[in-house]
Amino acid sequence: MESKALTITIVYDNNAYDPRLRTAWGFSCLIEYQGQAILFDSGGDSPTLLANMAALGIDPGEIETIVLSHIHGDHTGGLSGLLPVAGDGLTVFVPQSFPARFKEAVRTRAQLVEVVKPREIGKEVYTTGELGTGIIEQSLAVRTDESLVVVTGCAHPGVVEIVRQAKALSGDEVYLVLGGFHLGGKSRREIEGIISEFRRLGVRKVAPCHCTGEQAIRMFRQEYGEDFIQAGVGKVILVPP
Ligand SMILES: [Zn+2]
Ligand SMILES: [Zn+2]
Repeated sequence: MESKALTITIVYDNNAYDPRLRTAWGFSCLIEYQGQAILFDSGGDSPTLLANMAALGIDPGEIETIVLSHIHGDHTGGLSGLLPVAGDGLTVFVPQSFPARFKEAVRTRAQLVEVVKPREIGKEVYTTGELGTGIIEQSLAVRTDESLVVVTGCAHPGVVEIVRQAKALSGDEVYLVLGGFHLGGKSRREIEGIISEFRRLGVRKVAPCHCTGEQAIRMFRQEYGEDFIQAGVGKVILVPP
């Protein structure tokens, strides 16, 4: 059986990893899977995003799908500069709750798809649909031979809730959770609770970055040991490794 290799490249993050790249507050990663090139979030600004992509040898013209997790500028700010150089026939998936003006601007350059419920957005790539009651956010789940890979933007609806929702989509085990976990303001005890929920949900590996917070990153590293993946801008994660 031909194995399906997934590659995730972090192209924008406030955590350093590859010293050739620029760090800035925000998040974006490129998901390459079964011939698809999907950009998840767009970072805070397009000059940083495009410079990092160039340094990594990523041609923005190859991107045919963009998924925006939530409306915050550190996830959507790079879009306007990216749209003119992205691939033909580009599709942009946004939560339906995005402002009308934002959606109009995207429509002038790309096909816009408004997401409400969980759905497939590409071959074996799914959105959780809109989650949360305050800041509405969607996350991605990719089905691989190694089981689910969950990608979060800021995880405002709660990272445990997101993982639970992703797991409910397919019933598969969760191999990896990657992205911002949004635990900056949480106490040690709260973070411990979240880590034990991750264990209970069977999350095998973690790659926390962006807004996870230094203390939470340290605690995940300690708990997960060799299953902790040091993430930051320029990090490339292969599944299977
Ligand atoms: Zn946010
Ligand atoms: Zn953010």
